[in-house]
Amino acid sequence: MQLSKFGQKFTAKSGILQLMDDLGASLASDRNFLMLGGGNPAHIPAVQAHFRRRVEALLAADGELERAIGNYSPPQGDAEFTAALADLLRREYGWNVHAGNIALTNGSQTSFFILFNLLAGEFADGRRKKILLPLAPEYIGYADVGLSDDFFVSRKPEIEFLDDHTFKYHVDFHGLEIGEEIGAICVSRPTNPTGNVLTDDEIARLSALARTHDIPLIIDNAYGTPFPQIIFTDAKPVWDEHIIVCMSLSKLGLPSSRTGIIIAAEEVIAAVTAVNAITCLSPGGLGAALALDMVRTGEILTISRELIQPYYRRKAEQAVDQLWEELDGVDFFIHKPEGAIFLWLWFRGLPITSQELYERLKARDVLVIPGHHFFPGLKEDWKHRYECLRVSYAQADDVVQEGLRRIARTVKEIYAGRD
Ligand code: PLP
Repeated sequence: MQLSKFGQKFTAKSGILQLMDDLGASLASDRNFLMLGGGNPAHIPAVQAHFRRRVEALLAADGELERAIGNYSPPQGDAEFTAALADLLRREYGWNVHAGNIALTNGSQTSFFILFNLLAGEFADGRRKKILLPLAPEYIGYADVGLSDDFFVSRKPEIEFLDDHTFKYHVDFHGLEIGEEIGAICVSRPTNPTGNVLTDDEIARLSALARTHDIPLIIDNAYGTPFPQIIFTDAKPVWDEHIIVCMSLSKLGLPSSRTGIIIAAEEVIAAVTAVNAITCLSPGGLGAALALDMVRTGEILTISRELIQPYYRRKAEQAVDQLWEELDGVDFFIHKPEGAIFLWLWFRGLPITSQELYERLKARDVLVIPGHHFFPGLKEDWKHRYECLRVSYAQADDVVQEGLRRIARTVKEIYAGRD
């Protein structure tokens, strides 16, 4: 089969396809893998109970289920849901938004595909623009969504050491140049893979830069505030006409509903709506139907604050305590876990690459993600990117504990030259 340029680009072995394939194949095998690799959210019983009740209510009410599954939504997404969400955001945070500022997509991964290609790539006048990721490491899922090559430019962070084994990345504003070739700035907050939460001050500075250069600032809120609120520090939810906030129902507990939410200026929403109509007619409505009541009542905020956030916070603290104990004697660092569902481990001076470490751990039935995948757009070589691992702590406690135990044992052996 002869493929178009698009076909070639999207069938080439992308990092994300390789990883998803690898994780899928490992899970389908007979071996009992400890899955600390994927981004699947935890199954939190108290949160699942809310969705179960909602499904029961849909089944009980005359015609409700049929309405939820039997109609296409408009291409902008379910109108009741977008109106209810706009009300909530106005009421709770004073955001000046209405339903015309919100579009739904089939998952926020799709939102990034649409937004990045609307704002970067080739322009009618021949210019080419890129998406600026001001702080790498950054989400691996961005890396391959551009319809043309060389789509991203990213910057190394500043590293702040907080104690003997804890560090935090900051945006290096000195190295941050925004030229004509930048179409938008994008940050995930909290960041996948590191659990970093950009400070309110960093967001304010990025927002000011975006405004000055008349480009959007895209904030990827997949784990963020105000829902699912997997954030362990203070972080203000922000929106403005030049800010595009991308949210998702996945980490709230509905990844299979594939519901992404874009909150942006009306012209951005109109463009997303047009792309939705062409690429999928309309986004799926089941996620909106399952979450509608909790958005109307505002319960989505309390579920996030009181059930989801404490659940992950406890798991993060437990994982960090265990690693401090078991990695005693190793020159290890953990990025301060400020949110999301991952620990980002940095083994300074690691005698092998993170890819080799990943393979050795896989041989011991532990699946993690090697760090070098998380630097899309970073041209310069930097040893740091081969010294890090992303480890999810979303799985059951016994799985995470055993996985971390094997990681610590393997790393100690490598430093001691025994592996
Ligand atoms: N953004 C980040 C930072 C993520 O980690 C993920 C998924 O793990 C996504 C976006 C995409 O999520 P979804 O397409 O399920 O909404």
